[in-house]
Amino acid sequence: MDANEFRKRGKEVVDAIADYYESLDSVPPLSTVNPGYLYKIMPNEAPEDPEPFEDIQADIKTKIMPGMTHWQSGNFFAWFPSNSSFPGILGDMYSSMFNIVGFNWICSPAATELETVVMDWLGKLVGLDKRYMGIKDDGTEGAGGGVIQGTASEAHIVVMIAAREKALERLKAQGASEEEADQKRYKFVAYFSDQTHSAGQKAANVVGCKTHTISTGSDLRLTKEALQAAIATDKAAGLIPFFVCGTFGTTNTTAIDDLPGIADVAQAEHIWNHVDAAYAGAALVCPEFRPLAVGIEKADSFNFNAHKWMLTNFDCSALWVADSTHLINALSIHREYFPPAEDSTSFVKNYRDWQLPLGRRFRALKLWFVMRMYGASGIRAHIREHVRQAKWLEQQLLADGRFEIMAPVVFGLVVFRLKPSLVAKDTENIDVASVNMANTDLVAYSNEDGRVFIVATQLKGVVAVRVAIGSSFGTQRNVDLVLDVLKQSATKVLQLL
Ligand SMILES: *Cc1c(COP(=O)(O)O)cnc(C)c1O
Repeated sequence: MDANEFRKRGKEVVDAIADYYESLDSVPPLSTVNPGYLYKIMPNEAPEDPEPFEDIQADIKTKIMPGMTHWQSGNFFAWFPSNSSFPGILGDMYSSMFNIVGFNWICSPAATELETVVMDWLGKLVGLDKRYMGIKDDGTEGAGGGVIQGTASEAHIVVMIAAREKALERLKAQGASEEEADQKRYKFVAYFSDQTHSAGQKAANVVGCKTHTISTGSDLRLTKEALQAAIATDKAAGLIPFFVCGTFGTTNTTAIDDLPGIADVAQAEHIWNHVDAAYAGAALVCPEFRPLAVGIEKADSFNFNAHKWMLTNFDCSALWVADSTHLINALSIHREYFPPAEDSTSFVKNYRDWQLPLGRRFRALKLWFVMRMYGASGIRAHIREHVRQAKWLEQQLLADGRFEIMAPVVFGLVVFRLKPSLVAKDTENIDVASVNMANTDLVAYSNEDGRVFIVATQLKGVVAVRVAIGSSFGTQRNVDLVLDVLKQSATKVLQLL
């Protein structure tokens, strides 16, 4: 394919993308193919000779489309949203154009410097404390800064490695030899709540540390007191606390941990305090949500996914650290084929030292496009409209009378279930299993309807339905539809009891 053919085909593909987005409301959001569907209709080997573009384009429609679950559909209410946007796509097209491997400043100065600039923009946009800025108000380099990771899971691993480095340094400062410190790392323990995302446990598996999962109460929040108690138990057993993750907006219910309390304990105990705001962090572009986020200014690291609820195509996970020293010490490795070391001591950042891989894409471009083409006001409007829709849905479910709300509706997530008194076999003596069964059926019937896609979760053994509002392309129409489907499914559940 030469540049002229690319010109022609590229325009066709852009048209196909625009058509796709315009048609999303009329397509079932959830794929219904059976496992192995694609294998059966695919050739066993790659073609020996080049194939025409038209044939591949046709296969997108006939072979790929049926196996797609449409995350960009306004009728996709599962898990959390994964926002795309036209500005995001355009920025990503330029990233494909350059196709750089930006591990060091010199690999493409614009890529590194744009990332530093847009991460500071984004940090200010969500009201982060100045400690997290890559460049200080006086134009000199900050102690910390922002970096774009692929996912919140990677961010979690990266900060846990930095935390381990910091804890090892502390042991050595207290007089431990290199070897003694090394042996003690097997006593390091990381703290999570029973609502912390699985990414925390995965990071601990990678880092090779112990974990302590702290039970939450009925509000599903990690508290200062529970953390203190867990730390005291472990210290008495000879373990070394080194890391705690507080969550701003848990995946199950968008609960917010006691972030100021956790920060105080973390400071007193010299342990790294990471705040995982993967989904809800985007809401902080709206000042009215910031009182909920008090405590983040005292943490060591903060992360949210611009690719979840902030209009930026996957992958774009924004991570800030207040002090990058330990991160860079842990992840910086010099080889002759890398440019000279003085780079990292100057104003210039070598983001290879801030992440797991060496190579990295030019992801700052799509974030830059999104922030410029929506403006802060456009991003705030996006968030506020979804929160309004979520609160509207909550009111409608309550007005219906058959549902109960299972967690406060703060952002775009509504968690609820059919009332136990309506669905329990024995209303005198309500058993969890039959209520859970009815709510599992509610989700199954809603998805079988085909027009929407939702998922259930369990809150300490209690099945709850999650409707996550937040598609870039969703409107009130889509929320009307999910309400309609839920009501019909509820009627069916109750009829079949
Ligand atoms: C979605 C989510 C994650 C994981 O996100 P990835 O970017 O896919 O790794 C982590 N934490 C929370 C709270 C989440 O909601």
